Amino acid sequence: MNSFNIIQKCLGVVGVIFAASASIAAPTISRLTPPSNPPSADAVTLARFLPGQRFDLQATVSPDAGASIASFSFAVDGVALKPAANTVGMVTTGLNAKLSDGTATPANTAVVSLRAYSNAVPGVHTLSVTAVQSDGQKVTRSGNFEVVGITRQGHVAKNIILLLGDGMGAAHRTAARIMVKGYAQGKAQGRLAMDTFPYTGMVMTSSLNSIVTDSAPGMSNYVSGNKANNNEEGVFPDDTVDAFDNPRIEYLSEYLHRLKGKRLGIVTTADVFDATPAANAVHTSNRGNGTGIVDQYLDDRKLTGLTVLMGGGRKWFLPNSSDSSDKTSPQAINGSQRKASSDYVLPGDIVAGWGAAPGATDPERDLIADFTAAGYAYVADKAGMDAAGNPDKLLGLFAYSNMNVAFDKINKRRGVSTIVDDFGFPDQPMLDEMADKALKVLSKNNRDGFYLMIEGASIDKQAHLMDTDRWIEETIEFDRAVKVARDFAATHPDTLVIVTADHECAGAAIIGAAAAVMPAYPSAATVATYEAARFPKYTIAADGYPQTTDVPGRMLIGYGANADRYETWLSSDQPTQDSQQPFVGAPPLNAHPRNPALRNASTGFLITGQIPGSQAVHTASDVPLSAFGRGASLFTGVFDNTDVFFKIGQAVLGGIK
Ligand SMILES: [Zn+2]
Repeated sequence: MNSFNIIQKCLGVVGVIFAASASIAAPTISRLTPPSNPPSADAVTLARFLPGQRFDLQATVSPDAGASIASFSFAVDGVALKPAANTVGMVTTGLNAKLSDGTATPANTAVVSLRAYSNAVPGVHTLSVTAVQSDGQKVTRSGNFEVVGITRQGHVAKNIILLLGDGMGAAHRTAARIMVKGYAQGKAQGRLAMDTFPYTGMVMTSSLNSIVTDSAPGMSNYVSGNKANNNEEGVFPDDTVDAFDNPRIEYLSEYLHRLKGKRLGIVTTADVFDATPAANAVHTSNRGNGTGIVDQYLDDRKLTGLTVLMGGGRKWFLPNSSDSSDKTSPQAINGSQRKASSDYVLPGDIVAGWGAAPGATDPERDLIADFTAAGYAYVADKAGMDAAGNPDKLLGLFAYSNMNVAFDKINKRRGVSTIVDDFGFPDQPMLDEMADKALKVLSKNNRDGFYLMIEGASIDKQAHLMDTDRWIEETIEFDRAVKVARDFAATHPDTLVIVTADHECAGAAIIGAAAAVMPAYPSAATVATYEAARFPKYTIAADGYPQTTDVPGRMLIGYGANADRYETWLSSDQPTQDSQQPFVGAPPLNAHPRNPALRNASTGFLITGQIPGSQAVHTASDVPLSAFGRGASLFTGVFDNTDVFFKIGQAVLGGIK
C-alpha cells in the first residue's frame, strides 16, 4: 500500500467520525490538480513532468452551507509550499453549475491555485492541499505526481522536428504509398519518405476523458507529457467557466525555450488557431477561442520563443471594427472574424506565476501590424514567401482560414482548375515549401536549436469529409514535407525527426479497387476485392502528384466511422464546404457541396453510416510513429502519446549513447 492509499483510508475514518456528529462539519475537496489515479490503480502515476517543468496546482473546495473558504495551502512531500508573490489565487465566481462529479456546485465553492510550480527531483511525490473554512474546520486531500528523471548518456538532440499528419492512421499512409509509388507483383515500387525512417512504434492516442481524442489533447499530450481533456490544450480540466484560466502545463516549446533558448516554429496547412498548431503554444480549455489563441502566439512569444508561424487563419489577424456575427458579411469586407467573445484576459495569478501577458479584449486589434512591429516579416502568398529571403522571424498567413488542399492547389498550378481562386488565395505554398522556408529561418544563426512542428492538417479534415482523393493527396503533400525534414536532419545530425499522427480519422480502409470499367451508375458492386483489385496504377507528374486520380482500376476506400454519404467512387471537382471559411455562405463558395450527405446526391449511391451527423469521426486506433536522427532509437514498441514527450526530453536533455 502506498502513502496515497493510507491517506485515503485515514480520510475515510475521519469522514465516518464527522458523519456521526452533525454539529461538526468540514469543507470538501472535489478536485485536486494535477489529477491522480484512483487508489486502486497505483501501478501508474498519472501526472508526469520533466525535471523543473512548470505546472499549476489547483483544488476545488466547497465549504459547508453558510461558511466560506478562509485559507488554503499546498504541500509536496509533506512540506508546505511558500508561493512567490501573487502566484496564488482563489476564485468563487464564474464557476461551473456542476462539479466534476455531477453534483450542483455549492455556494461559496472556491477554486484555489498555486501557479507555475516545478520540482527538479526525480521520483514520485505526494501532493496535498489543505483548506480551512470560516469556522475553522479543515480538510486535506492528497494525490501524487512524478518527476521523470533524465539519464546523461551522450550526444543530445539540438533540433526537434515533429511532423504531425492529422488523422493519419496506417491506412492513410498505405493509400498514399499505393498512389504515389505504385505496387507490382506484390511489392511497393518505392517508399514514402516516412517509410525510410529507421525506427517505428505504435502510439496509443487516448485523451484524459475518452478513448477517442480530438486534435487538442491529441497534440497537447505529445508536447506536455500529460493527458488533457477533449477540446482542451496545454491545461488540466477545472471547474470554472473561463476557458483561459485552467491549470497550465508547460509545453515542450516553453520548457526548451526557458532552459535552452530553443526557438519555436509552427507550420500548418490549417488555420493557425486550429487545435494542433495552438496545442504547441497556447493554453486553453476551449480550442475554438480563435481571437485569444492567435493573440497569445504574439503576446507570449517570450515564453515560447515563437520564431516562425505559417499557415492559414488570416481572419483572426485582421481588425474587426464592428464585431459583427453576420457570417454572410464577415465584418463585411476584410474577412475578420475577431470577436470579443473568443478573446482572452488572464487572471493575475497566471500573469504573475508564468510571466504571461495579461491579454485584452480587443477585436479591433490589427494583429498583423503588431507582429510586424515585433520584428516578424509578414508574407501573404508563395511569391511573398519566396521573396522574403531568410528573415529573423516570419509570419505567413496564406488563407482566411484553413488553406486549400493539395488536390486543389496543384490543379491551380497546372492550370486545370481555379477552385482556389474561389477562396481568394490563388498563390498558396505547398507544405514542403513552407517546411523548407521554416527550417532556413529557424536554423539561421542559431546555436541553441529549435523545435518545429509541421502539420499536414487536411489529411484529417478531408477524411472527416470522406473526400478520398483529397486526403490521399494531402498525405502525399505531407510526405514531401517529411522528405524536407529528413534531408535537413541528414545534413544536421544533431536533429531528431518524428513523424506521427494525433489520432486516426474516419476508420479509413483500403477495400480494393474499382472494376476496370466503371458503370454509369456506381454501386457497391463496383468494388473489386482481393485478387480482382490487382495493383492500381497512377501516373505521377513531374510535380510529384498523380496526373489524375480517376484512373481505371483506381484504389477504393471504405470508412468504418462514417455518417451517411453518397459515393461515386470518383474524385469531386469541387471541395466540400468548410464552415470555418468566413465567406462560406456567399457565392462562389456556397455553390460547393455542403456536406458528404448531400455531395453527389444525384449521381452517387447512398452508403448509410453508423454515426449521426454528416461527417466521419475520429477512431481510437493506435497510430504509427516513425523516427529519424539523433535519439530516434528511443521510439520503438507500443507506447502512450505522453511517453513521446519524455523520449524527446531524454534525447534533448540527456542524449543517447
Ligand atoms: Zn479531426
